[in-house]
Order: sequence, then structure tokens, then C-alpha cells
Amino acid sequence: MIENITDPQDLQAKYDSVIEKDSKYVMQNYGRQPLVLSKGKGAVVQDICGKEYIDCVAGIAVNNVGHCHPIVVRAIKAQAEELLHVSNLYYTEIQAELAETLVSVTGMERVFFCNSGSEAVEAAMKLARVASGKSAFVAAEHSFHGRTIGALSVTHKSMYRDPFMPPVSSETAFVPYSDADAIRKAISQNTAAVILEPIQGEGGVKIPNPEYLKEVREICDETGTFLIFDEVQTGFGRTGTWFCKEQFGVEPDIMSMAKAIGGGFPMGAIAAREGLSFGRGQHASTFGGGPLACAAALASIEAIREEGLLKRSKENGAYFIGKLRNMDREDVVEVRGKGLMIGVEIKYPCSKFVDFARERGVLVNCTSDSVLRLVPPLVITKEQIDKVVDVLEQA
Ligand SMILES: *Cc1c(COP(=O)(O)O)cnc(C)c1O
Repeated sequence: MIENITDPQDLQAKYDSVIEKDSKYVMQNYGRQPLVLSKGKGAVVQDICGKEYIDCVAGIAVNNVGHCHPIVVRAIKAQAEELLHVSNLYYTEIQAELAETLVSVTGMERVFFCNSGSEAVEAAMKLARVASGKSAFVAAEHSFHGRTIGALSVTHKSMYRDPFMPPVSSETAFVPYSDADAIRKAISQNTAAVILEPIQGEGGVKIPNPEYLKEVREICDETGTFLIFDEVQTGFGRTGTWFCKEQFGVEPDIMSMAKAIGGGFPMGAIAAREGLSFGRGQHASTFGGGPLACAAALASIEAIREEGLLKRSKENGAYFIGKLRNMDREDVVEVRGKGLMIGVEIKYPCSKFVDFARERGVLVNCTSDSVLRLVPPLVITKEQIDKVVDVLEQA
């Protein structure tokens, strides 16, 4: 698969120069893989040496429609010729159109646009606070909601959280995931909202028991507490439906979206149910809902429809999970997932697996130390899945 596009020595020099510049000029906050990526198409990415990889990371559940989907690329190019940015002091046709489309795919009433997952969680928290007049949150153990100080206040992992304490919301109660009684006990007079991922991503692809979210919904209704679903990772077909909430038949009051929303272009949004909305001046974002992002998001939604990606996510996910469960390995604790959001829990830390797979042309990510997280583009083919399973079986 290696194409000798230029002299190997030149390529090595180019690679070294990128690594050198990064180590000199970029804050060293990422633990990066030794790979310089330069191209992508569908479920495959290419490094600067021309070596190809089946991408089961997909920008961490971002490239749902595949890398450089032609519908998305075309829309971004066309929009870039017309208008790159204008303030939210003015209307644009494309933002209004995307809002209508998002309301239709989420089943909510209104949306607010921002630029990332953390910002979407911030917006959801602010809306819950301003609409309830209360300030505390209930969140789950092993939750991940983002890195801004507000989103960190409801994020559980101590490595992410502890160095930045005190939190903005000092009153977050963390309770075991998939335990509705624990939520009932944790809700106080001052709880604005319960915030949950309908499947925990960063926490190791944890799927709650089927009744959990329904019970939480009932508890929230009884106590007058808002329910926020963080669908940043689970959205846009990842689990086989537009949003994961559909898998459990439960509607939140507010939901956050980002990652896959723009088909690779940065964007975030929240959607809220009937009657729940920011008032004038209560929240804003300079770039939120900008023309380029809206064009990318509309195109990405069109691509999901055109390519039947909800169905493919469901079918290929079931195929993938079936094959992973049939692997002849003693060290796999569990294979779990919905659609193409899959976790393979193994008996020891999985970073060596990541290296082994990369060397054989497969990109995977390790989360929660011992869970291989597989979130490939939804356009991944059965042949590509077969190759991934082969490599993981040998690993
Ligand atoms: C990735 C993620 C976030 C944070 O998104 P950013 O765009 O990195 O700020 C929030 N919530 C969940 C569930 C995520 O997976």
C-alpha cells in the first residue's frame, strides 16, 4: 500500500521537520501518535509518506460521513465564494435553513449555535440555570462533557478535573451511571439539571440499562429538574439513529451536539424542547452558526440521508460487533456497542494494541485505559471492517 511518491529520504526529512516544529512551537498537551496525516477519503486516511490507514478514530466520532465527503466539500467551497462570516447581529438564509433542519432531525423546538462540544455543554448548563433559577447539577461518574471550566464541573475524571478546581458549579453531585435511584437521591432543592451522555463515550463506551434513561426522565419530571442529554459523541447516526435518545425512547429538555454535526467542520449546537429558550442577550457567540459551518452541517445532514448512513451504521455496527465477539481471544472482557460506536474492553491497558494496529494500517483509540474505542466513519465497508477485525485479532 506504500506509494513511493517521492524519495523516501525526503519524506523522512519532511516527517522529522513536522515533529520538530511541533515539539518546539506547539504546547505539548497532546500525547500524539507518530503519524503525520495529510489526506483522507471515506474511511481511509493517508500519511505524508502515502501509507493508508483504515480510520476507526474518525477524528473521535467527527467524520461520520467519511473524510472529505464530496457533498460537504462542494458546499464549503461554494459557500466560501459567497460569504465567510457575518455577525449574529444579522440574519443569514443558510443559518435559518439549518435551524429548521436541525429542529426536524432532533424533534426539539429551537436551537442555539456555537462552535464546539464544550461550548454546547456550557450553553446547555447556562440555559438550565437561567430557566430554573437554580445552580447545581447532577452528573454521572466517568462522564465526559468537555474541557472548559463549566463543562469540567460536570466532568468526572480526576485527571481532567482536579488540576483546575474549584469548579464553577461547586455543587455537582456525581452518581454511578445507570443507577436511577442514585439520581433521585442526589437531586436537591437547588438542582437545575441532570446531565448525562445516553452512552458514555470517553468513559469507555458504557451503555446504560434499557430502562435507565426512562426512569431518570420520570424522576426529573417529578422533581421539576431539567434533563440534558449530551449527544456530542452519540449524534448524527453514530449509534444507528439520528440521535441516541431515539434508541431509548426518551426525550431530554435540552440536548448538546457537536463533533459530527459539520461533517468535519467545527460546529456545536444545543436544541431545546418547547418553551425552553434563551431570552434576548442571555447568550451569544461571535462565530456560532456562521455561514461556512452552516453550509457544512446542512451538507453533512444531506450526505447522511443520501448515503443511507443511519441504516448502514446499524447494519455495519451489528456486523462489526458480531465479528469482534467471534474473535478467538481470551483477553477480551467484553465487546459492546450500538451502531458504529463500539468498545472492546480488554484485560490490560490497550496502548500496545493501538501501536500494533497502526503499524498494520488501522487507527484505533484507547479510552479509559483498557477500552479500545472504535468509532469509524459510517461509510466504512464490510471489507474494511474485516481487515480491522483481522488486525485486532492478531494484535
Ligand atoms: C468530545 C465531547 C465533548 C467536548 O467536545 P469538544 O468539541 O472537544 O469541546 C463533550 N461531550 C462529549 C460527550 C464528548 O464526547
